[in-house]
Amino acid sequence: MTVPVFDTLKRPLRDLRISVTDRCNFRCTYCMPKEIFSRDFQFLDRELLLSFEEIERLVRLSRELGVHKVRITGGEPLLRRDLEQLIASLKALGGLELTMTTNGALLARKAQALKDAGLDRISVSLDSLDDTVFRAMNDVDFPVAKVLEGINVAHEVGLGPVKINAVVKQGVNDHTVVEMARHFKDTGHIIRFIEFMDVGHTNGWRLDDVVPAADIVAMINAEMPIEPIDPNYRGEVARRYRYKDGSGEIGLIASVTQPFCGDCTRGRISADGALYTCLFAVKGFDLRALLRSTASDEEIVKTLSEIWAARDDRYSEIRSSETVDLPKVEMSYIGG
Ligand code: SAM
Ligand code: SF4
Ligand code: SF4
Repeated sequence: MTVPVFDTLKRPLRDLRISVTDRCNFRCTYCMPKEIFSRDFQFLDRELLLSFEEIERLVRLSRELGVHKVRITGGEPLLRRDLEQLIASLKALGGLELTMTTNGALLARKAQALKDAGLDRISVSLDSLDDTVFRAMNDVDFPVAKVLEGINVAHEVGLGPVKINAVVKQGVNDHTVVEMARHFKDTGHIIRFIEFMDVGHTNGWRLDDVVPAADIVAMINAEMPIEPIDPNYRGEVARRYRYKDGSGEIGLIASVTQPFCGDCTRGRISADGALYTCLFAVKGFDLRALLRSTASDEEIVKTLSEIWAARDDRYSEIRSSETVDLPKVEMSYIGG
């Protein structure tokens, strides 16, 4: 039986984003800058990660509180071995929408197995189609062509519509935005431009680096006219626009200039099993200890419910020059 839980701002718990690893094969400058995430960086030991069985139990119990959508993320989720086994076990729970966010590097190889295991859709991060710009942003010299191949295979095996996420940073890739929109227009894929956010404390975020979503809309609209459309559901993060000529839609994730905390129904679980009620939280609740204790299912559901009921996060709505320097967890750890 499902008994929905609401936080102090009357927001239900509907989505879980689960990070399955804190490791990544990219070093995107805005997420895992090389200077910090170097060879010496202390990544989590394997036994500290939630096992697939632990994740499955957590998802099964969260469903009793109203969770109906799960996104697998990381770090780079496709680095976690046998990931399709986790997908299959979550699928077997029934009634869940299952999605994943990946950098696409290993996608061409894994898309079919993910689809067969029951993944519904996929989001692929790709910041530019300009190979030089993209290689500089992922900072491991990874070519655009291989990510595009992954996107095509994902589309062919039925993981579409593929959403393509591009973080836009002033002076780095903003000059390639219109070209990207044009490339994916009429392909059935949905490109979403994301404002560069002050997650974590290693990416040197400055407000001046953010290209406001309104400017991105204006740039695209000047060449290919677009108009706003209604969200698909409450809590959808992207603001949707469609091309007036009927050739598809794009999305804008304007977490800095147009915050959407009022509709935020997402809980996040880090690779080592801490529950965070906000992307910008400082502390998580250690669910791994609970899962590895003698706690019964009922006790775990009760704890999850109490954590969510106490939630009052609305960081993006109160962001200011003071909040930028507050300690926060890294995006690669908590999951995007
Ligand atoms: N490695 C996978 C990937 O890149 O798709 C999944 C994890 S990644 C942390 C999830 C998403 O967070 C990606 O789309 C990435 O572009 C986005 N992201 C990371 N750091 C960001 C930042 N500072 N501002 C905005 N988006 C960010
Ligand atoms: Fe890795 Fe994704 Fe972060 Fe890039 S955004 S460094 S691909 S976790
Ligand atoms: Fe949700 Fe926190 Fe982002 Fe607001 S700042 S939308 S509460 S994750």
